[in-house]
Amino acid sequence: MKKLFISTSIPYVNAAPHLGHALEFVQADVLARHHRAKGDEVFFLSGSDENSLKNVRSAEKAGVPVIDLVTANFKKFFALKESLNISFDDFIRTTEERHFKGAQKLWAACEKDIYKKKYSGLYCVGCEEFYKEDELIDGLCPDHKVKPELVEEENYFFRLSNYQDKIREVIEKDIVKIIPTERKNEVLSFIDSGLQDFCISRTSERAKGWGIDVPNDPTQKMWVWFDALSNYIDALGYGEDSDKFKEFWQNNEFKTHVIGKGIIRFHAVYWLAMLLSAGISLPKTIFVHGYLTVDNQKMSKSIGNVVDPAELVNKYGSEGVRYFLLREIPTTGDGDFTYEKFEKRYNSDLASGLGNLFSRTLAMVIKAGLDKEFEIKPNSLFIEKNKEVEAKVAEKFIQFNETLMDIWELVSFCDKYIEEEKPWEVTEIEKQKEIFANLLYSLNNISKMIEPFLPLTSQKMKNQLGENNNVFNVIKGDSLFPRI
Ligand SMILES: [Zn+2]
Repeated sequence: MKKLFISTSIPYVNAAPHLGHALEFVQADVLARHHRAKGDEVFFLSGSDENSLKNVRSAEKAGVPVIDLVTANFKKFFALKESLNISFDDFIRTTEERHFKGAQKLWAACEKDIYKKKYSGLYCVGCEEFYKEDELIDGLCPDHKVKPELVEEENYFFRLSNYQDKIREVIEKDIVKIIPTERKNEVLSFIDSGLQDFCISRTSERAKGWGIDVPNDPTQKMWVWFDALSNYIDALGYGEDSDKFKEFWQNNEFKTHVIGKGIIRFHAVYWLAMLLSAGISLPKTIFVHGYLTVDNQKMSKSIGNVVDPAELVNKYGSEGVRYFLLREIPTTGDGDFTYEKFEKRYNSDLASGLGNLFSRTLAMVIKAGLDKEFEIKPNSLFIEKNKEVEAKVAEKFIQFNETLMDIWELVSFCDKYIEEEKPWEVTEIEKQKEIFANLLYSLNNISKMIEPFLPLTSQKMKNQLGENNNVFNVIKGDSLFPRI
């Protein structure tokens, strides 16, 4: 049994969650559930990034206190736990006392690499990041297409240049493993372009008094990323040097961050440098997903194409939404959502696929009078086929979309078998027993393999199959996936 730390990134809560956030939550949830099912002890963390300037600006626009704005949006993010069935163990808000304490402790632990200097730079509030002239496109932030603000201040800097070689080494050698390789290479080339010291504070004036004080200098607030990254250890009680921090982080190898490709630099470079400086152990894995578009366009309020995950769940159910995100969207690449794609995927794979196979098999088993104490003996063809699929799933597990494709190959295999054998025409009891044994055996395996992906469906299937040591007590239930 291993101990595992798994985290999502913590979203800025300047607005309500969109479907891209749901994608990350669901992916991290699959990892957490997968490991729990293997018997590992998992600490699965998410949270909300509340100290950004972005939040201050959004609150100003809305004419409400910042804390009211972030609290209202935090609640919407937290509600995804219920609506999408996300199994967080903890959800940290960066306005919590435990976070303030941890962030300030981390700052103090990095003291030897922190210095103050006067400088000027171009800052994009949308990104909460400085840009170099040559990184801009026509003078605009490449992501937000707005002109960055010129900032001239005296601030604290972190000596990132000290860690160039060490960070390169841990990434190159997969001591910190970045998945997929394409992203690893992107980070390596960023490192090779030369790591420069980065600014880690802003004046309290520019921060409008919002954020975490720099220790021993109340005229300065921490740069939001410096504080935000520390959430991962603060939630474990780093601020109090708790046992949980030692067990799940400091003395533990298995730590995974699930993040989007847009924030990889912060995690694979800045965060590692901060940890190295403070003498804290490094994460083991950084798992990077791509972007989700809607009808091939970036989701944005101005286009009016932001998809609310809670609304989607109300319409199609949590399992349908989870399945779409995990199956249709390439796990570590970009993907696209449209209602048409969603309904097509749902109807073909869930309603007509697994749902239909399950309900018709159970109906036939009940009709044949084999629903009570049916001890199955699947044939060698089915045993082999099931083993083959299980092996593929174990091997590629982390490529969720391919893993689901493999599991659904077994669904098609069973469908084809039914078409060929036509069990409704079979009258001989031994033959009936063989056919239903093969089908029940496969469905029982499917119910186990889909557990991390579709936990409610898995449970419903197990309840209706009533399997114990290859003896089935089948009961009829509602359809798994009503057609839409
Ligand atoms: Zn920007």
